[in-house]
Amino acid sequence: IERTFIAIKPDGVQRGLVAEVINRFERKGYKLVGIKAIVPSKELAEEHYGDLKARPFYKGLVNYMTSGRAPVIAMVWEGPDVIRQGRRIIGATNPLDAEPGSIRGDYTISVGRNAIHGSDSFESATIEIGLWFKPTEVF
Ligand code: ATP
Ligand code: MG
Repeated sequence: IERTFIAIKPDGVQRGLVAEVINRFERKGYKLVGIKAIVPSKELAEEHYGDLKARPFYKGLVNYMTSGRAPVIAMVWEGPDVIRQGRRIIGATNPLDAEPGSIRGDYTISVGRNAIHGSDSFESATIEIGLWFKPTEVF
């Protein structure tokens, strides 16, 4: 069965969106098989967003993920097509392009504070789950 890595970013936690995010994935029918609150180390955040290293917003992105003002809620969700469907539930990267009804479309307005992350492919899901979770932390 397919699995994906979903993370509620610190701004999403600060804004009280944890239950809303979990609700949307659960009501869709997906199964939560791993969850923890964690302030990622700089190394973890840099590795997670390694493909964006050359982008001008990379440093700010890493600082925002690691600030520690609120944790990241790291999760593993399981079910049919969950990688692609998870991206649909989340909505477009830029909240101003995200459809109403998606999480970013309903709750966010800034690309730099878009509340949630979801893996974008099978390869990145596998890498990200391994990066954020020990095997014993996933059901
Ligand atoms: P994520 O990987 O967080 O799920 P995504 O896959 O929709 O988002 P990416 O292109 O992987 O989009 O960008 C990763 C994150 O980098 C975005 O979610 C956003 O927080 C941040 N980001 C992307 N573009 C910008 C930008 N132009 N300015 C500021 N931050 C940005
Ligand atoms: Mg991405």
